[in-house]
Amino acid sequence: MIKSIDEVLSGAGTVGITGHVRPDGDCVGSTLALYNYIQENMPEVKVTLYLEKFEEHFNFIKGADSVIHQLEEPVKHDVFIVLDCGDPNRVANFVRPMIELADKTVCIDHHMCNNRFADYNHVLPDISSVSEVLFELLDETLISKNVAEALYTGIIHDTGVLKYQATTRRTMEIAGMLMEKGIDFTAIIDNTFFKKTYIQNILLGKALLSSKLHLDGKVISSYMSYEVIKENGASGTDLGGIIDQLRFTKGVEVAIFLYELPDKCIKGSLRSIDYVDVNAIANAFGGGGHIRAAGFTAANMSPDEVIERLIAEISKQV
Ligand code: 5GP
Ligand code: MN
Repeated sequence: MIKSIDEVLSGAGTVGITGHVRPDGDCVGSTLALYNYIQENMPEVKVTLYLEKFEEHFNFIKGADSVIHQLEEPVKHDVFIVLDCGDPNRVANFVRPMIELADKTVCIDHHMCNNRFADYNHVLPDISSVSEVLFELLDETLISKNVAEALYTGIIHDTGVLKYQATTRRTMEIAGMLMEKGIDFTAIIDNTFFKKTYIQNILLGKALLSSKLHLDGKVISSYMSYEVIKENGASGTDLGGIIDQLRFTKGVEVAIFLYELPDKCIKGSLRSIDYVDVNAIANAFGGGGHIRAAGFTAANMSPDEVIERLIAEISKQV
């Protein structure tokens, strides 16, 4: 465990930052928060953020236009910091060699399945979001409005707007402190969490129409082929809200959303409401996450086979 971010950055001239593949709000928020914090408070450090492309609604966060999305040759850094990701296999392919090249590696995370791959592992599985974990490592007086916007975005996304079970009094206090930095919290929540593009709404409608109930309505599942995604000019990042709507079905304990990737693999998202440990179920498919939210990628299986195996695993718990 580390006490402050200064501890791992002392003496560093170059710092690289990354997060997981298919970056979500907490991943984009926490990485951009740290990027801006270092830029604003440590002028002697050259900091670079490497992330796969993310949803455009996060582009309002300062520094979003400086993120490196692809690189020909890996670059060596004094310190490389991985946020919101517990496994180097879950960072973008172009980033992975830079973790190995760095003199010092740091992992700041909140996944219980974190495999402690870095030299310094700061992993707090009970905390709502990595953005909350990161806040505690920063000097509050040095947090600018830009950094506050990024941290607030991350907390909002990983707590479902401050309501998931991992949300604590401390989470709310931190959100309050960030609000006092003058951020437009209403716009952040509406624009990045609730608003959908027309196409995203169409795909949500399609996913709901083709959804199926299993185990007496305790489980709901839906699958979307790559063909449907492609013919609507969409990509995986347009499917983010679908799992949340599926889990809002009365009587449902577990929601499953599967979609086909361009390489024919199947990306799966799992959510539970009250008692099913979906992390354990995702583990059975080589994935992971949290007790109430987890994911995996399955190769060489049809969607029906994946659903059948998932239902078999879930039925052991319901
Ligand atoms: P989502 O369903 O939104 O992709 O992911 C839900 C949670 O599970 C997130 O915390 C995410 O980081 C984690 N997760 C998703 N896919 C995988 C995976 O393939 N492996 C692991 N270890 N975690 C995953
Ligand atoms: Mn997270």
